[in-house]
Amino acid sequence: IQARADRLQTRSFSPADQSILDRQRQLDRDLRRALGRNQLRLNFQPQVDLKSRNVIGAEALMRWDHPELGPVSPAEFIPLAEETGLIVDLGRWILFEACQQAAAWPSPITVAVNVSPIQFQHVDLAATVANALRSSGLPASRLELEITESSRVTDPGRVHAVMWQLRDLGVRLAIDDFGTGYSSLSYFRDLPFDLVKIDQSFVRDRTSAEDHRLLAAIIELSSKMDKHTIAEGVEDEPTARLLTEMGCTYGQGYYFSRPISGENLCKLLSQPHRQQLIS
Ligand code: C2E
Ligand code: MG
Ligand code: MG
Ligand code: MG
Repeated sequence: IQARADRLQTRSFSPADQSILDRQRQLDRDLRRALGRNQLRLNFQPQVDLKSRNVIGAEALMRWDHPELGPVSPAEFIPLAEETGLIVDLGRWILFEACQQAAAWPSPITVAVNVSPIQFQHVDLAATVANALRSSGLPASRLELEITESSRVTDPGRVHAVMWQLRDLGVRLAIDDFGTGYSSLSYFRDLPFDLVKIDQSFVRDRTSAEDHRLLAAIIELSSKMDKHTIAEGVEDEPTARLLTEMGCTYGQGYYFSRPISGENLCKLLSQPHRQQLIS
């Protein structure tokens, strides 16, 4: 936050900048407490096999109900937690919580957990994951870790080494938000992952023939490199059908389901006919 304040101060500092900083200071302070006060919880967004439309997994997404500010989006508080290092404690909590819940689900689908690149640098991530699996009893094959590359990775060699340790534990690895930011084609050569998660920008904004061909090319490239693909941000049937035709394996998005509570996911999974979300 101080770094951000310094950055802002290098140009003219407006009252709007001040209120952004004030909010960030408040969020940072409150987030530390939220962890101990049960204000954080997980929602789960179902992931489906595009051909059968069966639910095969669910992504754990963090939710924060701030006592005064109301719901705060992870898009706002995760980057803040990465900046302050709090993501390490937060990330550990999420892993344990997600594994514990998933172990009790009525159907053996996978749980996908987002892991920040900061967690690779500051903790023994493989040991933390092994502990979460052991204490929950969840089989490693039912845990998938979604990894996003970022500018904050100062030591790519370490990320690479930790990914191999995770792979050795038997968990599945997905590259999240593929095609945006810092993800690169060299991943296919260098990193041991199972799944490419296509960023929703490629899935949702298809206005030109080029967009269409780009999406098809990402799926084709992945499949040539023996990776499964999952598309995020699937919002309608034409998109789901197009992705299926293009050979994309899995889909996730509002069309199939919004993120829901663990309780509602359990209800969904215990009704076999409802497991096929849309067909
Ligand atoms: P993400 O991992 O790319 O997650 C997908 C985001 O897209 C989620 O937003 C989800 O609710 C949203 N989404 C899913 N389907 C659709 C759709 O059809 N249309 C639209 N418009 N949006 C859709 P959410 O829950 O706000 O999470 C935002 C980001 O926050 C995540 O992006 C992830 O990077 C981060 N995040 C959330 N929970 C965690 C966590 O526990 N740990 C870490 N490290 N990051 C997390
Ligand atoms: Mg994700
Ligand atoms: Mg994503
Ligand atoms: Mg995304």
